[in-house]
Amino acid sequence: MSTCRFIPEPYQERRTYFAENYDCAFMRDCRAKKPLIIEPEEQICRFCGRKAPDVKFRNKAHAIPELLGNKDIISRSECNTCNQHFGDMLENNLSLFLGPLLTVMGTRGKNKIPKYHHKGLEFKRDSPNYMEIIQTNGEEIPIDSAKKNIVISVAGHGFVPIGVYKSFVKMAISLMPFEISKDFDCIKEWLLEQVHTNPIGAGAHCYYVFLPGNNLFPRVNPFVLIRKNDMLDVPYCQFVVQFNNLMFQIFIPSFSRDSHLIGKEIPRPPLFPIIYEREQAAWDAYKEKIGNPDFYIYDLSGTEKTSESLKIGYHFEQIEENPIP
Ligand SMILES: [Zn+2]
Repeated sequence: MSTCRFIPEPYQERRTYFAENYDCAFMRDCRAKKPLIIEPEEQICRFCGRKAPDVKFRNKAHAIPELLGNKDIISRSECNTCNQHFGDMLENNLSLFLGPLLTVMGTRGKNKIPKYHHKGLEFKRDSPNYMEIIQTNGEEIPIDSAKKNIVISVAGHGFVPIGVYKSFVKMAISLMPFEISKDFDCIKEWLLEQVHTNPIGAGAHCYYVFLPGNNLFPRVNPFVLIRKNDMLDVPYCQFVVQFNNLMFQIFIPSFSRDSHLIGKEIPRPPLFPIIYEREQAAWDAYKEKIGNPDFYIYDLSGTEKTSESLKIGYHFEQIEENPIP
């Protein structure tokens, strides 16, 4: 899986791009108190197209996986069979891809913040301000006391990159209005395959942004963006999801709506504007005090398990070193 750093275009430029080219087909008021239930007019699964009683709809299907901290965006248009398939084939890869980040960021999954344990490295986070790192694999954790930084090397987990990409595609299709989801029928078939051996023609790239600091997106914040009209030379659909310290952005291919773009030179879409960038002075002060965000492009096209190691940088106020008893 290849990754490369990038520098986003200026905020105003990106804001104009999205305002001119896209409508938001799904977003959530982050102050909303009530659960958001995606309810179809008739009980039909938007993925396999089957209806009750051929399939059951008893599982509580999370439109965004619970492991990302989503408790209350629930879909009633996903049957039990598809729900089980997505859990086994997609979420499982997403969880391995994120590895210890969920513990490090303090993401509350099904019950609480998950503990992380892999090849002699353990992360525990029992309170928002305290994290325990137990390393028994013989490696030293380099501690930079002057900058109050540690960088921990985490062994690879063996996830399939395209499985991670599919899990973002699945989230977008879960959230978009049912009528729009019909533009993605070929992609739905691809999501329901029992294998990850088929790549996607358009390339499976993803923007990955890590914002340092304490929980910048306390609730899962998804956006489904749909092109304003078919005259515009931009991809039909883009999906953004923000949670805790992370933001991902991908393009969701639609063979029916994107066919006129084939063969044209389409510039890479810019990064979706981040709400904190709106106040330039506060954004600059945040970067100065807490640190600069990391901006990466991940190539998630790989159809085979990857086991690259990951480096996690962590800023601390206080650190206590203890020998293992
Ligand atoms: Zn189904």
